[in-house]
Amino acid sequence: MQKIEHIGIAVNDLEKANEVYAKIFGAPAYKEEEVESEGVKTSFFKVGPNKIELLEATKPDSPIAKYLEKRGEGIHHIAFAVKDIKAEMKRLTEEGFVVLNEKPKKGADNKLVAFLHPKNTHGVLIELCQDADIRE
Ligand code: ZN
Repeated sequence: MQKIEHIGIAVNDLEKANEVYAKIFGAPAYKEEEVESEGVKTSFFKVGPNKIELLEATKPDSPIAKYLEKRGEGIHHIAFAVKDIKAEMKRLTEEGFVVLNEKPKKGADNKLVAFLHPKNTHGVLIELCQDADIRE
């Protein structure tokens, strides 16, 4: 793994959260994006070399909606940049971790992503993410 790519925070209201975090960071989100397949709307902030992702549910049955219902707002996941997501998924599966996706899927911010089940990671949802070089 290369570095922390971003930290994801689940919020009830993206618009309100954007205002709050813009105040904290002194700059607005540089990007907003909906990932329809995941039922989520996201915004991204730059903080020096780091990134923070805010996530709001757009569907009541989306993973973020379920998370918010169960745990409320707060830190949802930590994403780590990887060079070869398929190789990392294979390696971690062989190490006994539960990878929540069979294949890497398209995430926000032009990434291919996969998640590790928090039951094997001391309660932390870990996202692997690789730059998706998409030229269609
Ligand atoms: Zn993320």
